Amino acid sequence: MDSTSQRHFSFEFFPPRTEEGIAKLDVAHAKLAKLGPDFFSLTYGAGGSTKQGTRDLVIKYLKEGSNMAPHLSFGGTSEDEVRELLNEYKEAGATRLVALRGDMPSGGGSRVHHRYANELVEFVRKETGDHFHIDVACYPEIHPEAKSYAQDVAFFKQKVDAGASSAITQYFYNPDAYFRFVDYCADQGITIPIVPGIMPITNYESLARFSKNCGAEIPQWLARRLEDFGNDSEALRTFGVDVVTELCDDLLEGGAPGLHFYSMNVSKTVTEIWNNLSLSERR
Ligand code: FAD
Repeated sequence: MDSTSQRHFSFEFFPPRTEEGIAKLDVAHAKLAKLGPDFFSLTYGAGGSTKQGTRDLVIKYLKEGSNMAPHLSFGGTSEDEVRELLNEYKEAGATRLVALRGDMPSGGGSRVHHRYANELVEFVRKETGDHFHIDVACYPEIHPEAKSYAQDVAFFKQKVDAGASSAITQYFYNPDAYFRFVDYCADQGITIPIVPGIMPITNYESLARFSKNCGAEIPQWLARRLEDFGNDSEALRTFGVDVVTELCDDLLEGGAPGLHFYSMNVSKTVTEIWNNLSLSERR
């Protein structure tokens, strides 16, 4: 069966800290909008650092007609503030959001109590009923703080039971990790769509550093190939486009219900991957 019509394709942005960054994001957003994604999402600093930036950009792009899904977490914010934000998003026309526990900025020494994502999903459902399509995060290679695979999936299930509509995964480069995770989740009674999160490869050092922090594995064969490119960043990027295109193709062929691209606010690389996969025509 061709299930492409039910698949969802989306791009993630983060809120820039400078006017120049926002101007660049406006350009990337306009270019990616032409591809016709189902939605864009915009990350949220759980420490409150990008709270206003996320809100302002989400509302701006919603007004321009984009389907925007703000990321949201309790972080250090009160329930009243989250309620106000939900109402603002609703009034501006948002119909989906991504509910997270979030991470605090490293080195901040913050003592803010994290509230788990299932509590936020519950809160959003209590406050706004069925208005929002709620995405949550999940981890085919398991969240780095999790005590065990089984327990991490059990906590994922709590988010689903609290009312999550679908999930977006942490990125990974090993499709088996994803397919086995989806099967395991199904065995545990998790039947919501689990959409792979796709991280393009454009810079080996930053990818290696980030992957270490978030618990995503770069397979050894891939790490060694990437190391060999040294300072030839364009050759590395071109190779990365091929690798990630193949990964996406395997995922879609294997039945993944869509793809969520971590665009890093740049349109070029994700557009190449999108076009290689003929995603505009396939849908
Ligand atoms: P949770 O689902 O709450 O889980 C966090 C950890 O606690 C896991 O180890 C889980 O096993 C455990 N756990 C869950 N519930 C319980 C419980 N009841 N008792 C004990 N342990 C429990 N970060 C940001 O700061 N801003 C963003 O915008 C953002 N966007 C993201 C988007 C996606 C698609 C993904 C995959 C991640 C994103 N992150 C973002 C990172 C994310 O916030 C971190 O991975 C964070 O550490 C976990 O968030 P979560 O919502 O998955 O947490």
